[in-house]
Amino acid sequence: MKNNDLTVSVEEAKRMILNSVSTLGSEIISFMEAYDRVLYEDVVSDVMVPPMDDSAMDGYAVIADDTRGASKENPVRVRITGEIQAGGSIKGKNVSKGTAIRIMTGAHIPEGADSVIQFEDTEEEDGYVKIFSEVSKHKNYRFSGESIKRGDTVLKKGDRLNSADIGLLAAMNRSAVKVYRRPTVSIISTGDELADIGEEIKAGQIRNINAYTLYSEVKKYNAIPHYMGIVKDTLKDTKDIFLKALKSDVVISTGGVSMGRYDFVKDIYPDLGIEVQFEWVKVKPGRPCTFGKKGNTLVFGLPGNPVSTLTSFIQFVRPALLMLMGAKRIEKPVVNAILEEDIKKEPGKAHLLRGCFTIRNNEIYVSTTGNQKSSVLLSMSAANCLIVIPESKTNIKAGEKVTIQLIDHDEV
Ligand code: AMP
Ligand code: MG
Repeated sequence: MKNNDLTVSVEEAKRMILNSVSTLGSEIISFMEAYDRVLYEDVVSDVMVPPMDDSAMDGYAVIADDTRGASKENPVRVRITGEIQAGGSIKGKNVSKGTAIRIMTGAHIPEGADSVIQFEDTEEEDGYVKIFSEVSKHKNYRFSGESIKRGDTVLKKGDRLNSADIGLLAAMNRSAVKVYRRPTVSIISTGDELADIGEEIKAGQIRNINAYTLYSEVKKYNAIPHYMGIVKDTLKDTKDIFLKALKSDVVISTGGVSMGRYDFVKDIYPDLGIEVQFEWVKVKPGRPCTFGKKGNTLVFGLPGNPVSTLTSFIQFVRPALLMLMGAKRIEKPVVNAILEEDIKKEPGKAHLLRGCFTIRNNEIYVSTTGNQKSSVLLSMSAANCLIVIPESKTNIKAGEKVTIQLIDHDEV
């Protein structure tokens, strides 16, 4: 007999997992490979960005006071004494009262000038420029260090790097960064009924789906998937494959964790020294779902039905992978949405329904994506969110507000 003692709610399960995770070590990589990786160090700038005062416009570097009273009818005329292009030197180029220097966007602002009048408000004539409007001091003027000052902590340990962050690293000339190591993840498919891709399929067999959806998810979160293959439903085969898999940071198996006579995954845990923390979660889909640990290796026994596998991965494995990699943001965004259909539900278990949300007139609406059996992956494929109905809730009517988890969006 299998016991029902280790039953937890979704929230308890998450808490138990997150309390069990210790972050991985670090590695130094090229900043160009660092997109979506998590920083292991604070990045402190040793430069000023921009490095010099420079122009934000194509125009003329002038003294703002010289433009007082300038208008279309009464332009101010000042003499042009030179030109500075982006990247050009300001050596020997000064602006003094009654003079201007032609300047391009990004060019160093010469001594004496305190503002830039854009070409659009001027006209050049015989070595002079007619200025048609006043400029205020520091107009179109970018100060050295205005974006980043020397000594600023620009990026923090735990930041997951986006494209702008990679640009900031470039601005600071940081070609290498220290990031958290990526966890290695062994993926095991259990089931006598499974035939792998390309294999001949015999009567009673189905294709192995889960290894491949998990492989993709593991890659999506920057961990390193290692597919171990299909294991037959025997104690020995199951034990042998887990023994190998335990060398990685995380082990994910699917199937074999329910009440069936050939569900052996949990039976081998004690022998292998895997300490189980929970075996069942009060959620549909995904009730049979085990989590345990051996040393620092996290062991997830996910349910076999393809939708349950994925929803359990999203709720439990995904945050664990992110925590291992030191990320600070690990929750998918959760928002309220207006339900567009009636939903039937009994209390006792949380439900995660596959949904598709749309936004109309700034309101979020959500409907289910069809057949909600945990074996029907098509409705998961069409989903961009999970409708989260808490354990205690019962039937919900169209028009009521529900909570949705945005599974296609980055963590917040
Ligand atoms: P189990 O918990 O092992 O009884 O599996 C539950 C259901 O999920 C069964 O219908 C299995 O055939 C199915 N299943 C298990 N593993 C996979 C897999 N890797 N790919 C597709 N379906 C699976
Ligand atoms: Mg099975």
